[in-house]
Amino acid sequence: MPLQPFFEREPLHFSCTACGRCCATAGEYYVFLGAGEAETIRAYLGLSGPWFRRRYLARLEQGQLVLAAGSDERCIFLDDSGRCRIYAARPLQCRTYPFWPELVGSRRAWQREAARCEGINRGPRVSRRRIRAAVRACREQEP
Ligand code: SF4
Ligand code: SF4
Repeated sequence: MPLQPFFEREPLHFSCTACGRCCATAGEYYVFLGAGEAETIRAYLGLSGPWFRRRYLARLEQGQLVLAAGSDERCIFLDDSGRCRIYAARPLQCRTYPFWPELVGSRRAWQREAARCEGINRGPRVSRRRIRAAVRACREQEP
């Protein structure tokens, strides 16, 4: 019988401190956009399509749509006070962090991510229901 993912075997604790570090690592990773997410952000900002695409979107060589890189290795939507300028319309990748399948699948991955995110292993236990929903949503968005 295959081993269950880490989060199904042990309780995970998480409480975001709003340090903004996960939004400040452009160049290390990308914020991928699923179907309809670019349009959601564009509508939220009230921008025209061409301007929005030029300013805020990029395509990787493999064709995936991502948020364009901002300056100083920060997400282009992270403001000077460390807040997300599109919080209500932020992509699934941001809404589900740190409950991504590759992070909650093993103790090793979860603890390694804790070195980057100070909210991991802090605060109350997160319900398995919430983690399962995040994992499912991420998997549904996978190409
Ligand atoms: S790195 Fe973790 S604690 Fe900091 S803002 Fe991101 S999710 Fe919250
Ligand atoms: S879109 Fe918002 S939540 Fe997502 S990485 Fe950028 S600033 Fe952070």
